Amino acid sequence: MLEEYSRFIDSGTLRELKRLVGELKNVRILHINSTKKGGGVAEILSRMVPLMEELGIETRWEVIKGNTEFFKVTKKIHNLLHMPGGESLNHDDVIVYMKQTFENTNLIDTDRYDVVFVHDPQPLGLIIKKLKGQKWVWRCHIDISTPDEEVWKFLETFVNSYDGSIFHIPEFVREGVKIPAFIIPPSIDPLHDKNVDLEEDFVKNTLERFGIDPSRPIVLQVSRFDRLKDPFGVISAYRMVRKRHDCQLVLAGSFADDDPEGEEVYREVLNMKGNDPDIFVLNLPPDSHREINALQRSATVVVQKSIREGFGLVVSEAMWKFKPVVGSNIGGIRRQIINGITGYLVNSVEGTAFRIKQLLMNPDSRELMGKNAHERVRHSFLITRHIKDYLMVIYNLLRNS
Ligand code: UDP
Repeated sequence: MLEEYSRFIDSGTLRELKRLVGELKNVRILHINSTKKGGGVAEILSRMVPLMEELGIETRWEVIKGNTEFFKVTKKIHNLLHMPGGESLNHDDVIVYMKQTFENTNLIDTDRYDVVFVHDPQPLGLIIKKLKGQKWVWRCHIDISTPDEEVWKFLETFVNSYDGSIFHIPEFVREGVKIPAFIIPPSIDPLHDKNVDLEEDFVKNTLERFGIDPSRPIVLQVSRFDRLKDPFGVISAYRMVRKRHDCQLVLAGSFADDDPEGEEVYREVLNMKGNDPDIFVLNLPPDSHREINALQRSATVVVQKSIREGFGLVVSEAMWKFKPVVGSNIGGIRRQIINGITGYLVNSVEGTAFRIKQLLMNPDSRELMGKNAHERVRHSFLITRHIKDYLMVIYNLLRNS
């Protein structure tokens, strides 16, 4: 299996990976998050866990349980960690969070593992189950550089009970984090249905199925229906572009099990689209990997106009398909796009519209940036590098003890 990646990566990386696997053969690993489908964390785990298993390292994945009330609280925590504003956590929220955390301690067996990775704040409290001798790592996928202080104060005690933490970029590490912090950006899997080469017919049929005209330019954003992804800003930018340039806008999205706000945002997006026949709002099942792949491949310009973003896996996915991405100058997007080389970083709706126009008018620069973009992902954001980084963290934590 690992050999299949040799066409994308150099032999040195493969050798290092095999060596690390050899060192960690008997380690049992558990990942815990809050949804099996929808969003970047589930996307990464669905690829990483089976690949680690194939490499011969016992790796399991568990998902916490929660009702709507619980996920409303965790979404509030998510939003407030990304950005202060609005009502902070109240007493009732804390009770809902803790009650569900205790319930999950009974539902998930963590005792038989040597290393437990807990992803994001939803399952964070499970650290109360940690046994002596185990290593627990908090894997944070969120931009927590300027959080609501109340929320952070609540989570901080849990975080500092872990043995280590992982953030996407150094800017996300908070001063209050007293445990070792590792910097590991996420990755995409080039062998996943989401990213493999597709037959032209499939791409064409997919566009036809959605009523999109393959002969006209397509501007695309792929994202869960979430305010922080700013689908409204994308529509505004598109409307500015559309005054002078023919193009269609595709907003492809889905709902995630742990996000109760999705439907409301979806309705608002439909409302803003109105009866514009050139805006396509696609609500897709969460496992529409080949369809998303086809949309990304057929896009002329890909946009990611998030207001806050941990990483934004969709940026790397599009770049892998030789697309220049116009992305917000924030969080992990900034780490992926090299401004003017692999795409453009933007700070406003006007800036987004300007760069979209520029790319629509310049096929040569689209092609050149697309090639650079692909190379950037090949070099820095593939799953093989990601697994190697995880194994290094495990090696480091176990060795230090
Ligand atoms: N995604 C998908 N279908 C959708 C919307 C998103 O499969 O309708 C996938 C997308 O391709 C990417 C992941 O979900 O792999 C989103 O990850 P990202 O880091 O961009 O954002 P998150 O949702 O984690 O905030």
